[in-house]
Amino acid sequence: MKFQYLSRLTGLIAALLVTCAATNRVHGADAKRPNIVFIFTDDHAYQAIGAYGSKLVETPNIDRLATTGVRFDRCLVTNSICGPARAVILTGKYSHLNGFYNNTNGRFDGSQTTFPKLLQKAGYQTAMIGKWHLVSDPTGFDYWEVLPGQGRYYNPPMFRMGKRVMHEGYTTDIVTDLSLDWLKQRDPDKPFLLMCQHKAPHREWSPNLKYLGHDGDRQYPEPATLFDDYAGRGKAEHEQAMTLAKHFMPLDAKLRAPAELTPEQRKVWDAYYEPRNAKFREAKLEGKELTRWRFNRYMHDYLGCIKSVDESVGRVLDYLKEAGLEENTIVVYASDQGFYLGEHGWYDKRWMFEESLRTPLLIRWPGVAKAGTVNEDIVSNVDFAQTLLDAAGVEAPADMQGRSLRPVCAGETPSDWRKSFYYHYYEFPGPHDVRKHYGVATERYKLMHFYEPEMDYWELFDLKSDPQEMTSVYGKAEYVEAQAELEKELGRLRKELKVPEEDAAEADSRERPAPRANPRGPAKAK
Ligand code: CA
Repeated sequence: MKFQYLSRLTGLIAALLVTCAATNRVHGADAKRPNIVFIFTDDHAYQAIGAYGSKLVETPNIDRLATTGVRFDRCLVTNSICGPARAVILTGKYSHLNGFYNNTNGRFDGSQTTFPKLLQKAGYQTAMIGKWHLVSDPTGFDYWEVLPGQGRYYNPPMFRMGKRVMHEGYTTDIVTDLSLDWLKQRDPDKPFLLMCQHKAPHREWSPNLKYLGHDGDRQYPEPATLFDDYAGRGKAEHEQAMTLAKHFMPLDAKLRAPAELTPEQRKVWDAYYEPRNAKFREAKLEGKELTRWRFNRYMHDYLGCIKSVDESVGRVLDYLKEAGLEENTIVVYASDQGFYLGEHGWYDKRWMFEESLRTPLLIRWPGVAKAGTVNEDIVSNVDFAQTLLDAAGVEAPADMQGRSLRPVCAGETPSDWRKSFYYHYYEFPGPHDVRKHYGVATERYKLMHFYEPEMDYWELFDLKSDPQEMTSVYGKAEYVEAQAELEKELGRLRKELKVPEEDAAEADSRERPAPRANPRGPAKAK
Protein backbone atom coordinates (compact mmCIF):
# COMPACT_ATOMS: atom_id res chain seq x y z
CA MET A 1 0.00 0.00 0.00
CA LYS A 2 2.69 2.41 1.15
CA PHE A 3 4.87 1.45 -1.82
CA GLN A 4 2.02 1.95 -4.29
CA TYR A 5 1.35 5.40 -2.82
CA LEU A 6 5.00 6.37 -3.04
CA SER A 7 5.23 5.09 -6.59
CA ARG A 8 2.16 7.10 -7.58
CA LEU A 9 3.60 10.19 -5.90
CA THR A 10 6.91 9.75 -7.72
CA GLY A 11 5.03 9.39 -10.99
CA LEU A 12 3.08 12.54 -10.28
CA ILE A 13 6.25 14.49 -9.48
CA ALA A 14 7.90 13.18 -12.62
CA ALA A 15 4.89 14.22 -14.71
CA LEU A 16 4.96 17.66 -13.07
CA LEU A 17 8.67 18.05 -13.81
CA VAL A 18 8.13 17.14 -17.47
CA THR A 19 5.32 19.71 -17.68
CA CYS A 20 7.52 22.36 -16.06
CA ALA A 21 10.36 21.59 -18.45
CA ALA A 22 8.00 21.90 -21.42
CA THR A 23 6.63 25.18 -20.04
CA ASN A 24 10.19 26.40 -19.63
CA ARG A 25 10.99 25.54 -23.19
CA VAL A 26 8.02 27.58 -24.32
CA HIS A 27 8.42 30.59 -22.06
CA GLY A 28 12.06 30.56 -21.01
CA ALA A 29 13.73 29.33 -24.14
CA ASP A 30 11.33 30.89 -26.62
CA ALA A 31 10.10 27.84 -28.50
CA LYS A 32 7.37 30.12 -29.81
CA ARG A 33 9.57 33.00 -30.81
CA PRO A 34 11.17 31.96 -34.06
CA ASN A 35 14.79 32.51 -34.96
CA ILE A 36 15.45 34.60 -38.03
CA VAL A 37 18.16 34.09 -40.65
CA PHE A 38 18.19 36.92 -43.15
CA ILE A 39 20.40 36.03 -46.14
CA PHE A 40 21.01 39.04 -48.30
CA THR A 41 22.99 39.52 -51.48
CA ASP A 42 24.07 42.61 -53.37
CA ASP A 43 22.74 42.94 -56.93
CA HIS A 44 21.35 39.43 -57.35
CA ALA A 45 18.94 39.49 -60.32
CA TYR A 46 15.90 37.23 -60.13
CA GLN A 47 16.85 36.24 -63.69
CA ALA A 48 19.76 34.35 -62.11
CA ILE A 49 17.78 32.11 -59.74
CA GLY A 50 16.58 28.67 -60.78
CA ALA A 51 13.33 28.97 -58.80
CA TYR A 52 12.47 32.07 -60.87
CA GLY A 53 12.87 30.11 -64.08
CA SER A 54 16.43 31.16 -64.92
CA LYS A 55 17.85 29.78 -68.15
CA LEU A 56 21.28 30.97 -67.10
CA VAL A 57 22.21 29.13 -63.92
CA GLU A 58 21.10 26.44 -61.50
CA THR A 59 20.65 27.40 -57.85
CA PRO A 60 19.52 24.20 -56.11
CA ASN A 61 20.00 25.54 -52.59
CA ILE A 62 18.22 28.87 -53.02
CA ASP A 63 15.49 26.88 -54.75
CA ARG A 64 15.04 24.82 -51.55
CA LEU A 65 13.56 27.97 -50.01
CA ALA A 66 11.04 28.20 -52.85
CA THR A 67 9.95 24.57 -52.49
CA THR A 68 9.65 24.83 -48.70
CA GLY A 69 8.38 28.42 -48.58
CA VAL A 70 7.00 31.26 -50.67
CA ARG A 71 8.45 32.73 -53.87
CA PHE A 72 7.47 36.38 -54.28
CA ASP A 73 7.22 37.44 -57.90
CA ARG A 74 6.61 41.13 -57.38
CA CYS A 75 8.82 42.31 -54.54
CA LEU A 76 9.59 45.94 -55.43
CA VAL A 77 12.27 48.15 -53.90
CA THR A 78 11.63 51.78 -53.00
CA ASN A 79 15.01 53.07 -54.28
CA SER A 80 17.02 50.67 -56.43
CA ILE A 81 20.53 51.08 -55.11
CA CYS A 82 22.71 49.39 -52.50
CA GLY A 83 23.04 51.60 -49.39
CA PRO A 84 19.57 53.18 -49.57
CA ALA A 85 17.91 49.74 -49.92
CA ARG A 86 19.69 48.58 -46.75
CA ALA A 87 18.54 51.65 -44.84
CA VAL A 88 14.94 50.99 -45.96
CA ILE A 89 15.12 47.39 -44.76
CA LEU A 90 16.51 48.30 -41.33
CA THR A 91 14.10 51.17 -40.66
CA GLY A 92 10.95 50.14 -42.55
CA LYS A 93 10.92 53.67 -43.99
CA TYR A 94 11.50 55.27 -47.37
CA SER A 95 14.73 57.17 -48.03
CA HIS A 96 13.11 60.59 -47.43
CA LEU A 97 12.36 59.54 -43.85
CA ASN A 98 15.45 57.44 -43.00
CA GLY A 99 17.75 60.08 -44.50
CA PHE A 100 19.93 57.72 -46.60
CA TYR A 101 19.22 58.75 -50.21
CA ASN A 102 22.27 57.71 -52.21
CA ASN A 103 25.63 55.98 -52.06
CA THR A 104 27.57 59.10 -53.01
CA ASN A 105 27.10 61.10 -49.82
CA GLY A 106 24.80 58.97 -47.66
CA ARG A 107 25.71 58.14 -44.07
CA PHE A 108 23.23 56.10 -42.05
CA ASP A 109 22.05 57.72 -38.84
CA GLY A 110 22.50 54.74 -36.53
CA SER A 111 20.58 56.39 -33.71
CA GLN A 112 17.31 55.67 -35.56
CA THR A 113 14.95 52.90 -34.57
CA THR A 114 15.65 49.75 -36.59
CA PHE A 115 14.10 46.31 -36.48
CA PRO A 116 17.32 44.63 -35.19
CA LYS A 117 17.38 47.13 -32.29
CA LEU A 118 13.79 46.28 -31.41
CA LEU A 119 14.49 42.54 -31.60
CA GLN A 120 17.58 42.99 -29.44
CA LYS A 121 15.52 44.87 -26.88
CA ALA A 122 12.96 42.04 -26.92
CA GLY A 123 15.65 39.52 -25.96
CA TYR A 124 16.91 38.35 -29.35
CA GLN A 125 20.61 37.77 -29.91
CA THR A 126 21.48 39.81 -32.97
CA ALA A 127 24.38 39.54 -35.40
CA MET A 128 25.32 41.30 -38.63
CA ILE A 129 27.99 39.64 -40.75
CA GLY A 130 29.24 40.69 -44.20
CA LYS A 131 28.42 43.71 -46.33
CA TRP A 132 26.93 46.63 -44.39
CA HIS A 133 27.61 49.58 -46.72
CA LEU A 134 25.98 52.26 -44.60
CA VAL A 135 29.20 54.15 -43.66
CA SER A 136 28.41 54.55 -39.93
CA ASP A 137 29.01 51.58 -37.61
CA PRO A 138 26.23 49.00 -37.21
CA THR A 139 23.94 49.55 -34.21
CA GLY A 140 21.46 47.13 -32.69
CA PHE A 141 23.74 44.09 -32.96
CA ASP A 142 25.34 42.07 -30.17
CA TYR A 143 27.94 41.03 -32.69
CA TRP A 144 29.02 42.49 -35.99
CA GLU A 145 31.79 41.86 -38.45
CA VAL A 146 31.48 43.86 -41.64
CA LEU A 147 33.34 44.63 -44.83
CA PRO A 148 34.49 48.24 -45.13
CA GLY A 149 32.57 50.04 -47.91
CA GLN A 150 32.01 47.82 -50.93
CA GLY A 151 34.45 45.22 -49.59
CA ARG A 152 36.81 43.06 -51.62
CA TYR A 153 36.15 39.73 -53.31
CA TYR A 154 39.42 38.14 -52.18
CA ASN A 155 41.37 38.32 -48.91
CA PRO A 156 39.13 40.99 -47.39
CA PRO A 157 39.84 43.17 -44.40
CA MET A 158 36.79 43.34 -42.12
CA PHE A 159 35.80 45.29 -39.04
CA ARG A 160 34.93 43.04 -36.10
CA MET A 161 33.12 45.14 -33.51
CA GLY A 162 35.15 48.11 -34.75
CA LYS A 163 38.53 46.34 -34.88
CA ARG A 164 40.20 45.70 -38.24
CA VAL A 165 40.92 42.02 -38.97
CA MET A 166 42.32 40.40 -42.12
CA HIS A 167 40.99 37.26 -43.77
CA GLU A 168 42.42 35.11 -46.54
CA GLY A 169 40.18 33.47 -49.09
CA TYR A 170 37.01 34.19 -51.03
CA THR A 171 34.67 36.66 -49.38
CA THR A 172 31.40 34.73 -49.89
CA ASP A 173 32.99 31.70 -48.17
CA ILE A 174 34.38 33.85 -45.37
CA VAL A 175 31.03 35.55 -44.67
CA THR A 176 29.44 32.08 -44.55
CA ASP A 177 32.14 30.67 -42.21
CA LEU A 178 31.78 33.64 -39.86
CA SER A 179 27.99 33.31 -39.88
CA LEU A 180 28.14 29.59 -39.02
CA ASP A 181 30.75 30.26 -36.32
CA TRP A 182 28.41 32.79 -34.74
CA LEU A 183 25.45 30.42 -34.89
CA LYS A 184 27.49 27.69 -33.19
CA GLN A 185 28.62 29.84 -30.28
CA ARG A 186 25.33 31.63 -29.57
CA ASP A 187 23.28 31.16 -26.39
CA PRO A 188 20.92 28.30 -27.34
CA ASP A 189 18.34 29.48 -24.81
CA LYS A 190 17.58 32.70 -26.63
CA PRO A 191 16.07 33.33 -30.07
CA PHE A 192 18.36 34.97 -32.61
CA LEU A 193 18.51 37.22 -35.63
CA LEU A 194 21.40 36.57 -38.00
CA MET A 195 21.90 38.91 -40.94
CA CYS A 196 24.25 37.14 -43.34
CA GLN A 197 24.97 39.72 -46.04
CA HIS A 198 27.14 38.98 -49.04
CA LYS A 199 29.15 41.30 -51.22
CA ALA A 200 28.47 39.04 -54.19
CA PRO A 201 27.45 39.33 -56.94
CA HIS A 202 28.20 43.09 -56.98
CA ARG A 203 30.43 44.55 -59.70
CA GLU A 204 33.10 43.52 -60.71
CA TRP A 205 31.50 40.09 -60.34
CA SER A 206 34.68 38.19 -59.39
CA PRO A 207 34.08 34.45 -58.89
CA ASN A 208 35.66 32.07 -56.45
CA LEU A 209 38.87 30.89 -58.14
CA LYS A 210 37.62 27.29 -57.90
CA TYR A 211 34.71 28.25 -60.15
CA LEU A 212 36.71 29.87 -62.95
CA GLY A 213 35.66 28.02 -66.06
CA HIS A 214 32.52 26.71 -64.37
CA ASP A 215 30.52 27.12 -67.57
CA GLY A 216 32.83 25.35 -70.04
CA ASP A 217 32.99 28.50 -72.21
CA ARG A 218 29.26 28.39 -72.76
CA GLN A 219 27.63 30.91 -75.11
CA TYR A 220 24.73 32.33 -73.12
CA PRO A 221 21.26 33.03 -74.51
CA GLU A 222 21.08 36.76 -75.25
CA PRO A 223 18.27 38.86 -73.84
CA ALA A 224 15.91 40.10 -76.57
CA THR A 225 16.80 43.71 -75.72
CA LEU A 226 20.61 43.37 -75.71
CA PHE A 227 20.87 45.79 -78.64
CA ASP A 228 18.17 48.22 -77.46
CA ASP A 229 18.45 51.65 -79.11
CA TYR A 230 16.15 53.34 -76.52
CA ALA A 231 13.79 54.61 -79.21
CA GLY A 232 10.37 55.13 -77.67
CA ARG A 233 11.87 56.43 -74.44
CA GLY A 234 13.30 59.74 -73.25
CA LYS A 235 16.62 61.49 -72.98
CA ALA A 236 17.58 59.89 -69.63
CA GLU A 237 17.49 56.40 -71.13
CA HIS A 238 19.63 57.55 -74.05
CA GLU A 239 22.19 59.34 -71.89
CA GLN A 240 22.91 56.77 -69.17
CA ALA A 241 26.34 55.17 -68.77
CA MET A 242 25.74 51.50 -67.99
CA THR A 243 25.93 49.73 -71.32
CA LEU A 244 27.99 46.67 -72.14
CA ALA A 245 28.70 48.37 -75.50
CA LYS A 246 30.29 51.57 -74.18
CA HIS A 247 30.80 51.47 -70.43
CA PHE A 248 32.43 48.13 -69.71
CA MET A 249 35.78 48.73 -68.00
CA PRO A 250 38.92 46.53 -68.11
CA LEU A 251 38.29 45.33 -64.53
CA ASP A 252 34.68 44.47 -65.47
CA ALA A 253 35.97 42.45 -68.42
CA LYS A 254 38.73 40.83 -66.32
CA LEU A 255 41.30 42.21 -68.74
CA ARG A 256 42.98 43.36 -65.55
CA ALA A 257 43.35 41.29 -62.38
CA PRO A 258 42.29 42.58 -58.96
CA ALA A 259 45.24 43.90 -56.96
CA GLU A 260 44.43 41.98 -53.78
CA LEU A 261 45.22 38.47 -55.09
CA THR A 262 48.14 36.60 -53.51
CA PRO A 263 50.82 35.34 -55.97
CA GLU A 264 49.35 31.80 -55.75
CA GLN A 265 45.82 33.06 -56.37
CA ARG A 266 47.09 35.22 -59.23
CA LYS A 267 48.48 32.11 -60.93
CA VAL A 268 45.05 30.44 -60.87
CA TRP A 269 43.43 33.64 -62.12
CA ASP A 270 45.91 34.04 -64.98
CA ALA A 271 45.67 30.37 -65.96
CA TYR A 272 41.98 30.88 -66.68
CA TYR A 273 41.76 34.44 -67.99
CA GLU A 274 45.06 35.01 -69.79
CA PRO A 275 44.68 32.56 -72.72
CA ARG A 276 41.10 33.75 -73.27
CA ASN A 277 42.11 37.40 -73.02
CA ALA A 278 44.95 36.87 -75.50
CA LYS A 279 42.47 35.37 -77.96
CA PHE A 280 40.13 38.30 -77.40
CA ARG A 281 42.90 40.87 -78.03
CA GLU A 282 43.90 39.15 -81.25
CA ALA A 283 40.32 39.06 -82.53
CA LYS A 284 40.00 42.89 -82.34
CA LEU A 285 36.23 42.65 -82.03
CA GLU A 286 34.02 45.65 -82.75
CA GLY A 287 30.35 46.64 -82.63
CA LYS A 288 27.86 43.89 -81.87
CA GLU A 289 30.54 41.20 -81.72
CA LEU A 290 32.37 43.12 -79.01
CA THR A 291 29.12 43.55 -77.04
CA ARG A 292 28.44 39.81 -77.40
CA TRP A 293 31.90 38.92 -76.12
CA ARG A 294 31.42 41.23 -73.16
CA PHE A 295 27.99 39.79 -72.42
CA ASN A 296 29.39 36.25 -72.29
CA ARG A 297 32.36 37.28 -70.14
CA TYR A 298 29.95 39.14 -67.83
CA MET A 299 27.71 36.07 -67.54
CA HIS A 300 30.63 33.75 -66.78
CA ASP A 301 31.78 35.99 -63.95
CA TYR A 302 28.42 37.03 -62.53
CA LEU A 303 27.02 33.50 -62.56
CA GLY A 304 30.26 32.17 -61.09
CA CYS A 305 29.60 34.47 -58.12
CA ILE A 306 26.05 33.10 -57.88
CA LYS A 307 27.40 29.54 -57.60
CA SER A 308 29.19 30.50 -54.39
CA VAL A 309 26.14 32.34 -53.05
CA ASP A 310 24.04 29.25 -53.67
CA GLU A 311 26.64 27.06 -51.98
CA SER A 312 26.57 29.41 -48.99
CA VAL A 313 22.76 29.20 -48.72
CA GLY A 314 23.08 25.41 -48.78
CA ARG A 315 25.63 25.42 -45.95
CA VAL A 316 23.40 27.62 -43.78
CA LEU A 317 20.28 25.52 -44.47
CA ASP A 318 22.19 22.31 -43.77
CA TYR A 319 23.43 23.70 -40.47
CA LEU A 320 19.92 24.72 -39.39
CA LYS A 321 18.75 21.19 -40.13
CA GLU A 322 21.63 19.45 -38.35
CA ALA A 323 21.26 21.70 -35.31
CA GLY A 324 17.54 20.95 -35.07
CA LEU A 325 16.68 24.59 -35.78
CA GLU A 326 14.84 24.09 -39.05
CA GLU A 327 11.34 23.98 -37.56
CA ASN A 328 11.70 27.16 -35.57
CA THR A 329 13.73 29.37 -37.89
CA ILE A 330 12.44 31.77 -40.51
CA VAL A 331 14.79 32.01 -43.46
CA VAL A 332 14.55 35.01 -45.77
CA TYR A 333 16.52 35.26 -49.01
CA ALA A 334 16.59 38.64 -50.75
CA SER A 335 18.83 41.04 -52.62
CA ASP A 336 19.11 44.81 -52.19
CA GLN A 337 17.60 45.29 -55.66
CA GLY A 338 17.33 43.62 -59.04
CA PHE A 339 19.97 43.92 -61.76
CA TYR A 340 20.32 43.99 -65.55
CA LEU A 341 21.89 40.92 -67.11
CA GLY A 342 22.22 42.52 -70.54
CA GLU A 343 18.55 43.55 -70.84
CA HIS A 344 18.42 46.95 -72.62
CA GLY A 345 22.14 46.45 -73.22
CA TRP A 346 22.79 47.19 -69.55
CA TYR A 347 24.43 45.98 -66.39
CA ASP A 348 23.72 47.77 -63.05
CA LYS A 349 20.37 48.88 -61.57
CA ARG A 350 18.77 52.25 -60.46
CA TRP A 351 15.84 52.49 -62.92
CA MET A 352 12.18 51.99 -62.19
CA PHE A 353 12.17 49.46 -65.03
CA GLU A 354 11.27 45.96 -63.95
CA GLU A 355 14.70 44.25 -63.85
CA SER A 356 16.01 46.72 -61.26
CA LEU A 357 12.73 47.57 -59.50
CA ARG A 358 12.03 43.91 -58.69
CA THR A 359 14.20 42.02 -56.27
CA PRO A 360 14.14 38.30 -55.50
CA LEU A 361 12.38 37.37 -52.27
CA LEU A 362 11.96 33.87 -50.88
CA ILE A 363 10.64 33.23 -47.38
CA ARG A 364 10.57 29.94 -45.51
CA TRP A 365 8.39 30.46 -42.45
CA PRO A 366 7.57 27.15 -40.76
CA GLY A 367 4.00 27.00 -39.52
CA VAL A 368 2.97 30.12 -41.46
CA ALA A 369 4.04 29.99 -45.10
CA LYS A 370 2.59 27.32 -47.32
CA ALA A 371 5.38 25.31 -48.90
CA GLY A 372 5.95 25.80 -52.60
CA THR A 373 3.61 28.74 -53.13
CA VAL A 374 4.09 31.63 -55.53
CA ASN A 375 2.79 35.07 -54.63
CA GLU A 376 2.13 37.85 -57.13
CA ASP A 377 1.03 40.63 -54.80
CA ILE A 378 3.01 43.86 -54.72
CA VAL A 379 5.24 43.48 -51.69
CA SER A 380 8.34 45.50 -50.90
CA ASN A 381 11.61 45.73 -49.01
CA VAL A 382 9.86 48.40 -46.91
CA ASP A 383 7.75 45.50 -45.50
CA PHE A 384 10.67 43.44 -44.18
CA ALA A 385 11.07 45.24 -40.82
CA GLN A 386 7.42 44.92 -39.86
CA THR A 387 7.30 41.31 -41.05
CA LEU A 388 10.21 40.23 -38.89
CA LEU A 389 8.98 42.19 -35.87
CA ASP A 390 5.58 40.54 -36.28
CA ALA A 391 7.25 37.13 -36.44
CA ALA A 392 8.93 37.85 -33.11
CA GLY A 393 5.75 39.17 -31.54
CA VAL A 394 7.21 42.67 -31.21
CA GLU A 395 4.96 45.62 -31.97
CA ALA A 396 6.21 47.73 -34.86
CA PRO A 397 6.45 51.51 -34.38
CA ALA A 398 3.52 53.34 -35.97
CA ASP A 399 5.79 55.40 -38.24
CA MET A 400 7.14 52.40 -40.17
CA GLN A 401 5.76 52.54 -43.71
CA GLY A 402 5.40 48.91 -44.72
CA ARG A 403 3.16 46.11 -43.64
CA SER A 404 3.76 42.64 -42.20
CA LEU A 405 3.90 39.92 -44.85
CA ARG A 406 2.61 37.30 -42.42
CA PRO A 407 -0.90 36.98 -43.94
CA VAL A 408 0.54 37.15 -47.45
CA CYS A 409 2.97 34.33 -46.60
CA ALA A 410 0.03 32.33 -45.25
CA GLY A 411 -1.79 32.73 -48.56
CA GLU A 412 -4.38 35.06 -47.01
CA THR A 413 -3.58 38.42 -48.55
CA PRO A 414 -5.85 41.05 -46.93
CA SER A 415 -8.40 42.58 -49.31
CA ASP A 416 -6.96 46.04 -48.68
CA TRP A 417 -3.39 45.02 -49.59
CA ARG A 418 -1.57 47.63 -51.72
CA LYS A 419 -2.40 47.71 -55.42
CA SER A 420 0.09 50.47 -56.21
CA PHE A 421 3.64 51.26 -55.21
CA TYR A 422 5.74 54.44 -54.96
CA TYR A 423 9.35 54.51 -56.21
CA HIS A 424 11.99 57.26 -55.92
CA TYR A 425 15.60 57.33 -57.13
CA TYR A 426 17.88 60.27 -56.25
CA GLU A 427 21.52 59.61 -57.18
CA PHE A 428 22.38 62.10 -59.91
CA PRO A 429 25.09 63.03 -60.52
CA GLY A 430 26.47 59.63 -59.73
CA PRO A 431 27.94 56.49 -61.28
CA HIS A 432 26.18 55.44 -64.51
CA ASP A 433 24.39 58.78 -64.98
CA VAL A 434 20.86 57.64 -64.25
CA ARG A 435 18.64 60.68 -63.77
CA LYS A 436 16.48 61.30 -60.72
CA HIS A 437 12.99 59.96 -61.11
CA TYR A 438 9.96 58.87 -59.14
CA GLY A 439 6.79 57.11 -60.10
CA VAL A 440 3.96 54.74 -59.37
CA ALA A 441 3.78 51.07 -60.35
CA THR A 442 0.64 48.95 -60.43
CA GLU A 443 0.07 45.40 -61.64
CA ARG A 444 -0.30 46.67 -65.21
CA TYR A 445 1.22 50.15 -65.47
CA LYS A 446 4.17 52.31 -64.57
CA LEU A 447 4.02 56.07 -64.59
CA MET A 448 7.43 57.72 -64.19
CA HIS A 449 8.52 61.31 -63.81
CA PHE A 450 12.09 62.39 -64.56
CA TYR A 451 11.91 65.63 -62.66
CA GLU A 452 15.13 67.62 -62.86
CA PRO A 453 14.70 71.08 -64.43
CA GLU A 454 17.02 70.22 -67.33
CA MET A 455 15.42 66.83 -67.91
CA ASP A 456 11.77 67.06 -67.02
CA TYR A 457 9.46 64.55 -68.70
CA TRP A 458 6.92 61.81 -68.00
CA GLU A 459 6.67 58.24 -69.24
CA LEU A 460 3.93 55.66 -69.08
CA PHE A 461 4.41 51.95 -69.73
CA ASP A 462 1.74 49.32 -70.23
CA LEU A 463 3.31 46.09 -68.99
CA LYS A 464 0.49 44.05 -70.50
CA SER A 465 1.16 45.07 -74.10
CA ASP A 466 4.82 46.02 -73.58
CA PRO A 467 6.36 43.82 -70.84
CA GLN A 468 9.90 44.85 -71.82
CA GLU A 469 9.03 48.54 -71.33
CA MET A 470 10.24 49.67 -74.75
CA THR A 471 7.72 52.38 -75.68
CA SER A 472 6.21 55.06 -73.51
CA VAL A 473 2.52 55.62 -74.17
CA TYR A 474 2.35 58.79 -72.11
CA GLY A 475 -0.11 61.25 -73.63
CA LYS A 476 -1.55 58.68 -76.07
CA ALA A 477 -5.32 59.02 -76.52
CA GLU A 478 -6.13 55.41 -75.62
CA TYR A 479 -4.41 55.80 -72.26
CA VAL A 480 -6.00 59.08 -71.16
CA GLU A 481 -8.11 57.45 -68.45
CA ALA A 482 -5.42 55.12 -67.13
CA GLN A 483 -2.96 58.00 -67.07
CA ALA A 484 -5.31 60.27 -65.12
CA GLU A 485 -5.92 57.53 -62.57
CA LEU A 486 -2.21 56.87 -62.16
CA GLU A 487 -1.48 60.59 -61.75
CA LYS A 488 -4.08 60.74 -59.01
CA GLU A 489 -2.70 57.62 -57.35
CA LEU A 490 0.83 59.00 -57.50
CA GLY A 491 -0.33 62.16 -55.70
CA ARG A 492 -2.15 60.10 -53.10
CA LEU A 493 0.90 57.89 -52.43
CA ARG A 494 3.25 60.87 -52.15
CA LYS A 495 0.95 62.40 -49.57
CA GLU A 496 0.42 59.16 -47.65
CA LEU A 497 4.16 58.43 -47.56
CA LYS A 498 5.00 62.02 -46.58
CA VAL A 499 7.21 62.69 -49.60
CA PRO A 500 8.25 66.36 -49.50
CA GLU A 501 7.30 68.55 -52.49
CA GLU A 502 10.96 69.44 -52.96
CA ASP A 503 13.80 66.98 -52.28
CA ALA A 504 15.64 67.68 -49.02
CA ALA A 505 19.14 69.20 -49.43
CA GLU A 506 20.87 65.97 -48.34
CA ALA A 507 19.06 64.04 -51.08
CA ASP A 508 21.31 65.79 -53.60
CA SER A 509 24.45 63.80 -54.32
CA ARG A 510 26.24 67.09 -55.07
CA GLU A 511 25.92 68.05 -51.41
CA ARG A 512 29.06 67.61 -49.36
CA PRO A 513 29.28 64.16 -47.73
CA ALA A 514 28.07 64.12 -44.14
CA PRO A 515 30.96 64.48 -41.65
CA ARG A 516 32.61 61.21 -40.68
CA ALA A 517 33.96 62.35 -37.33
CA ASN A 518 34.58 59.57 -34.84
CA PRO A 519 33.47 56.84 -37.25
CA ARG A 520 34.12 54.08 -34.72
CA GLY A 521 32.57 55.86 -31.77
CA PRO A 522 29.16 55.19 -30.30
CA ALA A 523 26.19 56.57 -32.20
CA LYS A 524 24.92 59.80 -30.72
CA ALA A 525 21.53 59.63 -29.09
CA LYS A 526 18.97 61.85 -30.77
CA1 CA B 1 23.16 46.54 -54.71
